[in-house]
Amino acid sequence: MERFDAVVIGAGAAGLFCASVAGQLGVKVLLLDHSERIAEKIRISGGGRCNFTNRDLDPRAPHKHFLGENPNFCRSALSRYTATDFIDLVRRHGIAFHEKHKGQLFGDRSSEDFIRMLIAECDAGGVTRWQPCRVAAVRHGAEGYELDTDRGPVRAPRVVIATGGLSIPKIGATDFGYRIARQFGVRIIEPRPALVPLTFEGEDWAPYSGLAGLSLPVRIATGAKKAAMAFDEDLLFTHRGLSGPAVLQISSYWQPGTPIRIDLAPGAQLPSALQQAKGRSRKLLANELAAWVPARLADAWVQRDPAWQRPVNEAADKALASLAEALANWELVPSGSEGYRKAEVTAGGVDTRELSSQTLESRQPGLYFIGEVVDVTGWLGGYNFQWAWSSGWACGQALAAA
Ligand code: FAD
Repeated sequence: MERFDAVVIGAGAAGLFCASVAGQLGVKVLLLDHSERIAEKIRISGGGRCNFTNRDLDPRAPHKHFLGENPNFCRSALSRYTATDFIDLVRRHGIAFHEKHKGQLFGDRSSEDFIRMLIAECDAGGVTRWQPCRVAAVRHGAEGYELDTDRGPVRAPRVVIATGGLSIPKIGATDFGYRIARQFGVRIIEPRPALVPLTFEGEDWAPYSGLAGLSLPVRIATGAKKAAMAFDEDLLFTHRGLSGPAVLQISSYWQPGTPIRIDLAPGAQLPSALQQAKGRSRKLLANELAAWVPARLADAWVQRDPAWQRPVNEAADKALASLAEALANWELVPSGSEGYRKAEVTAGGVDTRELSSQTLESRQPGLYFIGEVVDVTGWLGGYNFQWAWSSGWACGQALAAA
């Protein structure tokens, strides 16, 4: 029976970082993962460049960029291990990076740089790594936790669950974390795909199904009153519906069966602009519209109403007004989402009321949950990795103090 001070299950972003922090503080750590290739999500993240954090993250107001039943739960970890702390680590490893858009930081070269950095940090902490290695069972008894693994039984007083969420099952995502939570009576908030493309079906969608590949800046919104949420980002038409940063962001807030609202020409004063065009042009309305939205979209859009399929100077004022209104307030109800197959993250997860925000230990003594398996979901833009680093760090410190 091998003995460790702590076993971290899941060698993704949170698990690797937690193991390295605890190891460097003198904790004897075993880090294991069922996949041969660890940290696959880091590898594919940010289009292969890893959007590793976000400069705009304000740890005092996490509700601005995180959702969950209690978005302020992450305040403690995010303010004790900040984006600046992680940036310093990246600098110490000589990894060059740049800011892209809205505070998003990406590596200049490749996500592999970050994986190498995390493994080097684990090595510096003397972390034992086993992969691929499956865990068949976790039991708790008088002598702490006993794990049945592919490489034999292991004993430790503390176990950290860092197995992430359900998104992208083909690269190793499993429901292991939720199963362990249930086994030990730790409640979970029903998981659901988030940061995910939305799908549309039926006749209403037919005019747009040929627009796949088209992208444009929009303002997108969902919800009403206090629950209303809006983003100014790019929209992408796909074969089955809509994607791009605008839709990924809003998908985390979208409730099935409810509409999303899209302003396809944000900032354009369309009602007056179309009236002016009427006074000076004889072009088809679709051709005039192409000044504000991509021509392919303008062509598809005017198919919705015969009153819009004529030269602008012949269009009725009412038709121009309704066209401007329809473009500024396109309301549509998604039939669903692309699901975990395409979701960047899983919303929901281990209920934060079951965890200490300081240590990430659950009500079950010695059992910790970190990273995406917890009901903390960040916006697109590096926020989810920062939660993985911060929760991993807070837990790593706690393992050393225990
Ligand atoms: P993961 O990184 O998913 O790690 C979980 C680990 O647990 C994996 O190695 C897995 O093999 C292992 N595991 C699972 N089940 C078991 C089991 N039963 N036994 C043993 N091991 C197991 N976030 C950003 O902030 N910036 C980005 O640029 C970004 N890009 C993304 C792009 C894509 C395509 C996707 C899918 C996600 C992206 N994310 C991004 C989200 C980010 O990758 C995750 O939020 C983050 O990786 C979560 O870290 P984690 O350690 O909790 O889980």
